[in-house]
Amino acid sequence: MNWLSNFMTGRYGTDQLSLALLILGMILTVLGSLFKIPWLTILSYLPFLLCLFRIFSRNVNKRRMENNKFFKLWFPIKQWFSRLRHRMKDEKNYRFYKCPKCKILVKVPRNRGKIKIKCPKCSAEFVKKT
Ligand SMILES: [Zn+2]
Repeated sequence: MNWLSNFMTGRYGTDQLSLALLILGMILTVLGSLFKIPWLTILSYLPFLLCLFRIFSRNVNKRRMENNKFFKLWFPIKQWFSRLRHRMKDEKNYRFYKCPKCKILVKVPRNRGKIKIKCPKCSAEFVKKT
């Protein structure tokens, strides 16, 4: 494997952006063959080639900058998804009740039977079935 490490010396290698390109290429390949769209299959070569180009690139700084840009772009998307997942989990485990006095929403765990809820804002108490 000596020739390989020699070959890779000074080259950029893999990073998150290359991985994302690889995944994108695979998704396009699958979609292309699933819906029998030839141009989608051809299009899927593009991220693969780009990924290979980046791995073997000697312009390490530029590739690193690209990866940083990708991170800045990807971060809000990732956050949005994790928030969505959080909310879905919340909806499964909690119920939301409006406080009869100050009308704010109070989060209460589900399936606890009839419980007395104390509003965290105005301390009003009310009984609900969860
Ligand atoms: Zn209240």
